[in-house]
Amino acid sequence: MRLYTICKGCSQDVGVYSSAKSREELQANLENLDIRCKHCGNKAQPHVKDIHAELKLFYILIAFLIGIIFSVLFWGIFGMVGTFFILIPCIYWIYEFRLTHKFNISSD
Ligand SMILES: [Zn+2]
Repeated sequence: MRLYTICKGCSQDVGVYSSAKSREELQANLENLDIRCKHCGNKAQPHVKDIHAELKLFYILIAFLIGIIFSVLFWGIFGMVGTFFILIPCIYWIYEFRLTHKFNISSD
């Protein structure tokens, strides 16, 4: 899950680096976060409701590629059981999706 807000200066995405799993959790340490726009240098102090979550599609894609490679490798050794490895990125995807959704519907 990636957290981001929109820069008030240039309307670009600004990454928010926090391990918070909900807006309640984020609110607690929002003051300590240095949220600075990489495009215009504007230091933003957004309201917790202006911070949104999205899936890290790149990581999910990597997880799928690794899952496919392992499935193919282990297919030769374990047969059908080897395809179990493709389940790992699926589980990761569902987990990330639920986390992102939960963050976006949570209020402060
Ligand atoms: Zn900006």
